[in-house]
Amino acid sequence: MERTVVRCAEGHLFSTASFPMQHLRDGRIGPGRLMRCPQCARLRSAVPADLAALSTEQISKALRREAMEFLA
Ligand SMILES: [Zn+2]
Repeated sequence: MERTVVRCAEGHLFSTASFPMQHLRDGRIGPGRLMRCPQCARLRSAVPADLAALSTEQISKALRREAMEFLA
């Protein structure tokens, strides 16, 4: 399953299996999606990370750290 690497508002990298890009245009919560960051352990606005700006190590770590919860 394809995973999306996302970055929370605090800069933590993690991943989610289902980042609904089509919902970004709703504009309800701005450019990000509310997710429970596994490091903040609280809801954060997360946006897709720019993979070109990350090292392969950062990406592989993020892929192993999955979002604890996804709010549709
Ligand atoms: Zn975080």
